Amino acid sequence: MSENTTKEPVTVNLEWLSDCGGCHVAVVDLHEKIEKVLQAVSIQRCPVLTDIKGYPHARVGLVSGAIRTEHDRHAAEAMRENCDLVIAWGSCAVYGGIVGAGIVHSRNEIFDTVYNNCKTTGTHTSPSVEVSPLEKFVTPLDEIIDVDMYLPGCPPHPAFVFDALISLVEGRTPKANKRSVCGRCNRVMKKTSTDSIKSSSSGIPDPALCFLSQGYICMGSVTLDRCLAPCPTNGVVCTGCAGATMQVLTEPNRDIRTEIADRMSRITRIPRQAIVTEIERTAKSHYSYTMASSMIGEKPTFLINKWLKDAEASYE
Ligand code: SF4
Ligand code: SF4
Ligand code: SF4
Repeated sequence: MSENTTKEPVTVNLEWLSDCGGCHVAVVDLHEKIEKVLQAVSIQRCPVLTDIKGYPHARVGLVSGAIRTEHDRHAAEAMRENCDLVIAWGSCAVYGGIVGAGIVHSRNEIFDTVYNNCKTTGTHTSPSVEVSPLEKFVTPLDEIIDVDMYLPGCPPHPAFVFDALISLVEGRTPKANKRSVCGRCNRVMKKTSTDSIKSSSSGIPDPALCFLSQGYICMGSVTLDRCLAPCPTNGVVCTGCAGATMQVLTEPNRDIRTEIADRMSRITRIPRQAIVTEIERTAKSHYSYTMASSMIGEKPTFLINKWLKDAEASYE
């Protein structure tokens, strides 16, 4: 990465595609460090702050969200054309994220849940104008445009966001680690006589003991640490929102469910196959953040491709 020797502020464009907006809001979590960032960068477009529609030329482009609509695709291409470096920012941009879980539902199911029978807004109608058409799939950013840097997390912890931004200003590579969430978790993983899988809402877990040792399915061991492990630290299992570890992503026959089943069956009396079966049964939750990524979706060991084909038929 070339050094920024000009001392001119680094120009930055931000864009959000299909996502929850949380990654943009997370920038505010930089707290007082945001001052250091703002002294070094010049933000030219930022949908959460301003109504600028164009894409001025910038050195860095931060893109959150997945490609779900025609508008997303055009916006991603415009960012690529006008930014020297593009960062896929947050799990939606890197893997499809929670938006990606939509790939296993038909267009009708999605419109029904979001518009026609929406339980939260009470609406009972679908928009007929000014809504960008849904594409057939949800696509992570790097399957549409070239990406120079990945910053997964849902959202990434401010420490990682800060380091990525400052590293760009200083012309160095960010200090992203390859550790799993377990590496940040203080719970002790030890052998127990637990013989059944518990739902995350049952009982009161021991706060000092690893969730796996207690029969709760925690995804910390297969999830990249981009969060500093807030969930297991605060009594909640990790649901894998920062995406899978490099080991799971890069080795074709390793998968989330088999990795967890191997580990959990070694430290409890729960049979390995019972764990595999349970994770398959609840797979739409356990794979929700990464199933749109071809690195997970095309694993020879899993069913995501089958669900995809069923949903795809509804877009013909
Ligand atoms: S990665 Fe998470 S926080 Fe960021 S936009 Fe997607 S859903 Fe929201
Ligand atoms: S599996 Fe979960 S509870 Fe156990 S050490 Fe890893 S993050 Fe902590
Ligand atoms: S502990 Fe797991 S679920 Fe919680 S923020 Fe980190 S990656 Fe996401």
